[in-house]
Amino acid sequence: MGEAQGDGTSSHRGGGCNGPSATDNGFREPEHGRVQVTEYHIGVDSTDSAELGMCTTYLGALIIEEMEKLPVELSTYPELVRLNPNVPWKTRGNGAVALRFSGRRGQERRMFDTCCEMIEKYSIMEDPQTNPGLVVISGNVPEEFTETYHEALHRLMGTEEIIPLLKEHECLFRGWKNGRGLIGAVSAVGARFDEFTYEAILYRNGEVKDRERLVDPGSVREASRKHPSTFFNVDDRGDLVCIPHSPCPVICGIRGLEPVDTRSALLEVSAGRAERWVLWRTNQHTDVHIVAIDSLKDASPYSSVSLDVVVDSEPSYHGGGHLSIPVRDGSGHTMTAWAYEPTKEFRKELSGLIRGDSIRIWGSVREGGGRFERGINLEKVEVQELEKKRDLVNPRCPLCGGPTESMGKGQGLRCKSCGNREGLEKLPMEVKRKLSPGMIEPPPTAWRHLFRPSSVTPVKELEVAPPFHGLLFEDHQ
Ligand SMILES: [Zn+2]
Repeated sequence: MGEAQGDGTSSHRGGGCNGPSATDNGFREPEHGRVQVTEYHIGVDSTDSAELGMCTTYLGALIIEEMEKLPVELSTYPELVRLNPNVPWKTRGNGAVALRFSGRRGQERRMFDTCCEMIEKYSIMEDPQTNPGLVVISGNVPEEFTETYHEALHRLMGTEEIIPLLKEHECLFRGWKNGRGLIGAVSAVGARFDEFTYEAILYRNGEVKDRERLVDPGSVREASRKHPSTFFNVDDRGDLVCIPHSPCPVICGIRGLEPVDTRSALLEVSAGRAERWVLWRTNQHTDVHIVAIDSLKDASPYSSVSLDVVVDSEPSYHGGGHLSIPVRDGSGHTMTAWAYEPTKEFRKELSGLIRGDSIRIWGSVREGGGRFERGINLEKVEVQELEKKRDLVNPRCPLCGGPTESMGKGQGLRCKSCGNREGLEKLPMEVKRKLSPGMIEPPPTAWRHLFRPSSVTPVKELEVAPPFHGLLFEDHQ
């Protein structure tokens, strides 16, 4: 019930999904005695559950292994595609996967059927947020899929926008339950990264649901020291941040900017129960979810934006330790920016802002409702120009130059050296600001997947360095 399906039965050209320019993808070409090859793209989303485990990337790893039993092989890195972090129904990190293969023509039906079986076997269907989607295409990726990828990063989309597209291109696709995973599946297939990073992930068996991971922290610290292009492994205090504490199959994820380095670092991590690994290419830490806007009136709910604003009044703390910062844009629109308690030092630094400070903000737009107004949840802030801050301070004594002190409320001032009390009045004096121009960012524990820290410069040039995945049964059991 409620399943969206398409299997290209209206077409007898062998199914699959061809780009708008490739209406005839070569099935009528003479074969000249050689095997005709094509590209296949598989997109999967929404199979996991924040509470009950699984991880769509783990299913991706298993699918790769099954697909390679067919006459196809991975043609590039598997891709971990993070989508809009603000969607209310995301499973965990709103991450879909795209797997791209090349191989003998005519495999798409078998690939599709195998993927369907695996999704049904492994997805956490009992979680209401888990609504798997699968797309399998051959040939070129339609341009509209890439447009969908960009839209799905920036706004809420519905399956009603996706299904006509899939039918138009005669794709093999299937959505389970409400089928929302189709949005991520199409977006993943359509994803084209202008900038990217890598994440090498180590997996245990999906049956294992412990929240504890059997990872030797020393081996992670050593691996991250030896492989400097990796990041986000260990925080300032030396605590591991690359290990989830959920019941999912991920043991450890090493993020990096260089594929060989990232893979080597992961394989040097000493971990119990490790079974397999995958080196993902990903849009993580690229800020691709951010849209630069000029006015707060363009800050639409569920999008992520950046813009220049001026602090409108002093920041203040609220219940739970959250900090609010009223801001105003160049055309006079106002909104409240928020830094939440888990961002710790970030929030504390921002509390030093004063009215008139010029800042650039990055964050996600929160829809108003109930007792909350629309606001911006801050991801990072650049201090551009600080307003002069003046405080009333005690003057020096005009007679002897000594320091002065207050004698109590309404009692005036007195020189501490000579006792003079005449002609003394507090003076407005410029005081040094604790803040200085530059970036203010949360600690790694508060980073979101797409957040681009100033310490990370994502990669632009693709270096294809297989292997992309592997098994570790013998080494680690
Ligand atoms: Zn004096």
